[in-house]
Amino acid sequence: MYNAIAYSAASATAPLGPATIARRDLTEHDVQIEILFCGICHSDLHSARNEWSEFSPTAYPIVPGHEIVGRITKVGSAVTKFRTGDLAAVGCMVDSDRTCNACKDGIEQFCPNAILTYNSPDVHLGSVTYGGYSESIVVDEHFVLRVPSNLDPASAAPLLCAGITTYSPLRHWGVGKGKKVGVVGIGGLGHVGVKLAHALGAHVVAFTTSADKKDDALRLGADEVVVSRNANEMEKHAGSFNFILDTVSATHDINSYLALLARDGTLTLVGAPPKPLAVAAFALIGGRHSLSGSSIGGIAETQEMLDFCGEHNITADVEVIPIQKVNEAYERLLKSDVKYRFSIDMASLRSE
Ligand SMILES: [Zn+2]
Ligand SMILES: [Zn+2]
Repeated sequence: MYNAIAYSAASATAPLGPATIARRDLTEHDVQIEILFCGICHSDLHSARNEWSEFSPTAYPIVPGHEIVGRITKVGSAVTKFRTGDLAAVGCMVDSDRTCNACKDGIEQFCPNAILTYNSPDVHLGSVTYGGYSESIVVDEHFVLRVPSNLDPASAAPLLCAGITTYSPLRHWGVGKGKKVGVVGIGGLGHVGVKLAHALGAHVVAFTTSADKKDDALRLGADEVVVSRNANEMEKHAGSFNFILDTVSATHDINSYLALLARDGTLTLVGAPPKPLAVAAFALIGGRHSLSGSSIGGIAETQEMLDFCGEHNITADVEVIPIQKVNEAYERLLKSDVKYRFSIDMASLRSE
């Protein structure tokens, strides 16, 4: 075991502040990573404040962060994928049982025994896992990703959650050339979704509630932008979408989007509204529409996503902050006051 500096919260109402945490010594398959940047995901805030207590109660202290990019500083004796000095990344998972059907199929995110990057049981140290708001992390190489060298580490970090969360459903539902795709919500997830859908060759329509995001959505790669409050604009697209990616995590009317699907079209939820959404049966029956959901992606697909982003030069739009501004960033996140993801410069931890 060794000590690492981190930022943690001691309770649901406490702000995040500096702390010392234990990290394990390397096993033969582990790598140690010096964390350079960590994105701030909305899940970090939900978990820090125990807002998902019903299905995933938070164990305190919590060290959030699952959009990690860093530099390999040590490798275990059996490690084959990495060498010291490599740029590497860690996303939402750090382990799984490797034996279940999901693991065998390479979709570890659906493993019943998946170990999340933070707030999961830590089988090595007997405590809970601590995430990326920290100077270093030790992870089995199977759950560590390679980062294309042309990508900027600060803006590549959010790809590890926001990127794979949007890439996986776009790929699963066959988004590409000749397909019309809607992206609902231009925020942390949605702005990456627009870039990816565009790079995959689809005709992309961005849906936003705020007209002032119109120019931005076009710049991100949307072919058209619809202000969803405008019923006329919505009506023009009725029955025309092959696929709609809904990234909104607040309660909203999905029936108006289901009505925009073409025959056999699918709407996939990747945001997690706190209350059940009402679905009108006729919005599904009429055009044999599907309503579905998707959760991050497996390790192989996460690597595929990073390589795709490397080829197409895709990263998130980030505002880089020092760790000392993380509490302020959480408040701004609640007001959607960021374009479009915070990325913490972990070098700022050294002044703690
Ligand atoms: Zn996340
Ligand atoms: Zn498994």
